[in-house]
Amino acid sequence: MRMGGHVLIGKRITVLGAGVAGLAVARALALRGAEVTVLEQAEAIREVGAGVQISPNGVRVLRALGLGDALAAAGPRSVGVEMFDGETGTRVARLDLARLRPRDAYHLVHRARLIDLLAEGARAAGVQIRLLQRIDRVELGDHPPRLVTAQNGVAEVDLLIGADGLHSKVREALNGRVAPFFTHQVAWRALIPAEVDARPVAQVFMGPGRHVVSYPLGGGLRNIVAVEERRRWVEESWNLRDDALTLRAAFADFCPLVRGWLDQVEDCWLWGLFRHPVAAQWHGRGAVILGDAAHPTLPFLAQGAVMALEDAWVLAEALAGHDSTEAGFAAYQAARAPRCAAIVEAANRNARNYHLSGISRSVAHLGLRAISGLAPDKLLGRFDWIYGHDVTGGAGG
Ligand SMILES: Cc1cc2nc3c(=O)[nH]c(=O)nc-3n(C[C@H](O)[C@H](O)[C@H](O)COP(=O)(O)OP(=O)(O)OC[C@H]3O[C@@H](n4cnc5c(N)ncnc54)[C@H](O)[C@@H]3O)c2cc1C
Repeated sequence: MRMGGHVLIGKRITVLGAGVAGLAVARALALRGAEVTVLEQAEAIREVGAGVQISPNGVRVLRALGLGDALAAAGPRSVGVEMFDGETGTRVARLDLARLRPRDAYHLVHRARLIDLLAEGARAAGVQIRLLQRIDRVELGDHPPRLVTAQNGVAEVDLLIGADGLHSKVREALNGRVAPFFTHQVAWRALIPAEVDARPVAQVFMGPGRHVVSYPLGGGLRNIVAVEERRRWVEESWNLRDDALTLRAAFADFCPLVRGWLDQVEDCWLWGLFRHPVAAQWHGRGAVILGDAAHPTLPFLAQGAVMALEDAWVLAEALAGHDSTEAGFAAYQAARAPRCAAIVEAANRNARNYHLSGISRSVAHLGLRAISGLAPDKLLGRFDWIYGHDVTGGAGG
């Protein structure tokens, strides 16, 4: 593990939110000598039942944080990505990651296991995690950052890191409130038992206005995310249950493999996909934001948690490498904002590519099939700017 300096020794830092971003930045800062406290509203550190793909750019951060072995134990290494015509089940493209990029690891993990390993890593580095700490309002001004609870309890902190996700209070204090807009897409998530011989590969089944992504997670589970375009508004929440029959009906004309998976779904959750602009202002008055608080993204490139990991590393390095906090914050935003905006935009475009219909769909599938057969390296090369990126400067191996 190689870290930039120890200039954070004795610095007191408060992180709001114990998700991927908050726990990763807490460990990164504590390893550099800071005294870190994480405040989390929930009564326990836990995650929803769903999977997450960690691409090599995120794996490098976890390794640089000394959590590479824990990640390898948490879920299988993915050998590739396959894309199918959802209705016929015909394979359109295949990216053999293990062969094309043998040095790069992709992992498929249960979110709860990722959060557990990050929380253990944070605690082992000396981070205090305080639960049941719901913050209703954040005040920034000519005073230290103030955290206000629903009961009007006020706490002032030296330095505040907002890792409080999609509905971030720290983002709101820095940028005001910006209303997101509904993308007219909804997503279901579900876990089913994995086949005993399930290959660790992420599979995407594309249909007009719909797609399904599935991969095994280890621990005998298979993750399913199904997306459908819809006129009607659906709430932006991860905890809204839906009837599995509705999910099955939406994909009734998909191939038998997908229908077979959906037939096994007992519990599923539905939520609306919203677009939020990347925050204009990431820092100021002793506070800074990262992860979904700064740049919520649609899930179509599987980069939300991975960007949060990248942010965590860069923020800790920037704070350790600058004499003043504000200079560190500014260097962090300058390094991260253009990259995150480009990834968010690429994820927006991917939704359109997956959901093509009619002639444009046939042409796109034909093109994908040709390029994936003849020049798979070229196809994967389109994503090298995302997956090949190394914010750790080699510390992540
Ligand atoms: C369907 C789907 C699939 C996805 N798949 C992938 C994938 O494969 N790969 C990937 O990299 N990303 C994926 N993502 C994105 C990823 O899940 C998010 O980007 C990531 O979890 C963001 O982490 P975070 O720590 O910034 O926010 P969060 O995980 O939302 O954590 C925020 C934390 O702050 C706490 N909090 C919030 N407000 C307060 C408050 N006021 N007071 C106290 N505590 C508070 C919350 O309780 C929570 O614990 C997916 C997302 C979706 C929707």
